[in-house]
Amino acid sequence: MRIVLLGPPGSGKGALSQQISAHYGMPVITVGSVMRRAAAEQTELGRLAKEAMDSARVSDELLLALLRIQLPQMDLGKGFILVDLPKNAGQADVLDSVLSDLGAGVEAVLNLEVDRDELMERLVGRITCDNCGAQYNLYVNPPMVEGVCDACGARVVRRPDDYEETISTRLRVYEAQMGPLLQYYQLTDKLH
Ligand code: ZN
Repeated sequence: MRIVLLGPPGSGKGALSQQISAHYGMPVITVGSVMRRAAAEQTELGRLAKEAMDSARVSDELLLALLRIQLPQMDLGKGFILVDLPKNAGQADVLDSVLSDLGAGVEAVLNLEVDRDELMERLVGRITCDNCGAQYNLYVNPPMVEGVCDACGARVVRRPDDYEETISTRLRVYEAQMGPLLQYYQLTDKLH
């Protein structure tokens, strides 16, 4: 199965994609995985990928150039799951042409819908261990001792990404960019 998985921050795409990937034995492809794979190579594109990761800004051109190179090198026999990728209708169009050249067009686009209040609670409550990366939620899954990581004993903090204002901006930006992308996939009846 060749899947595109979309959904707002906090909708659980990470966990869901890992489960689907483990069940069907298909690779998970994200912007991050594409960038890391490229950055490991001593090429000009690798250098650009590293720069893009450091600045957290990835241009459409760079991402698509890397996908053109990487997708044909991957074993897509069992399908794949693209997570949060493509990011916009323009990317989707180019991705479609790259994949159809490989005989591996997208079959289904899954868009996770989560109530906005619930998303806010999940995201605002999120705290992360600086030391080992363990994640907690203040409301539904707090550490046993307040402010201390269960796994390693280090201090757990809220990342700047998880402040309420940042989150509501992220959700707004996400919704604005999603409209045309969802429409794109609706036109071909792939959207679920
Ligand atoms: Zn920890």
